[in-house]
Amino acid sequence: MSESCGVKITLASAMGTCFGVQDAIDMALDPAFAGRLTVVGQLVHNPQTVDQLRANGIRIVERDEIDSITTEAVMVTAHGAADSTKADLQARGFTVYDATCPLVIRLHKLARWLERKGYFVVIVGQRDHVEIKGVVGNLQNCLVVAGVDEIGPVAGNRKVGVVSQTTNRLERVWEVVAAIEQLDGIEEVRFTDTICQPVKDRQAAIQDLLSNDIDLGIVVGGFNSSNTRKLLDLLHDRGVDAHHIERPEELEAEWFTGRNHVGITAGTSTPQDVIEEVHQAVRRLVCL
Ligand code: SF4
Repeated sequence: MSESCGVKITLASAMGTCFGVQDAIDMALDPAFAGRLTVVGQLVHNPQTVDQLRANGIRIVERDEIDSITTEAVMVTAHGAADSTKADLQARGFTVYDATCPLVIRLHKLARWLERKGYFVVIVGQRDHVEIKGVVGNLQNCLVVAGVDEIGPVAGNRKVGVVSQTTNRLERVWEVVAAIEQLDGIEEVRFTDTICQPVKDRQAAIQDLLSNDIDLGIVVGGFNSSNTRKLLDLLHDRGVDAHHIERPEELEAEWFTGRNHVGITAGTSTPQDVIEEVHQAVRRLVCL
């Protein structure tokens, strides 16, 4: 904790880039790939990092733009992809480099294991998220639910296996598991916790900020970053005023008027440099 003009500022004890994202960035920035790599999908959900990759000559295309790739090497992102997607890229003659995070690979393996063992697989997460599309693409039949409101179609299955998007909030997933257990005809619900440890660490660090009585939260990360948005939700759910920004220029002076203690946190794809820029900008704004 530091203090500026009588206002306390605390940085979360766990925040910013996780090992999975960092490994993927390091792989993409390997000089051996200079000028000959296309990343399929956003390598990380962070605008500054995407800008850095582009500045290093790396092309980034969406999955529906594969026809436009002109490089020989392509990279699958930390969020992973279905085997069929990788096979399609190989069949087109590309050399595929796989930056899928090991914890996403674990999720794929567990979901497939559950399916092989006869469980109807329920994935708690966002069906339009690239990680979940990859997991779904490797299964014969499954259901993606965002929350308890969407579990109706699970009824009628006797054995249900539940996994989660790696960036979820555990208490939300448990709500879904408990609701499925109440459905008619269910004999077994097998839940495997696939939320990744770096995400849990960042969520736990929010609890520490709350214990220190922050009265304003600043959450730094891509607006399209699932785990960053969850950090914001967590603060709001606990009744703390909080704002989500991508860049320090988005901070507004009036947010800091009358505050005593500001907590700063960041999602798993937010670079340390950006966090520090925000920290310094907050120090200036609390003194206005
Ligand atoms: S958030 Fe978790 S699952 Fe995703 S890249 Fe980071 S460590 Fe891997």
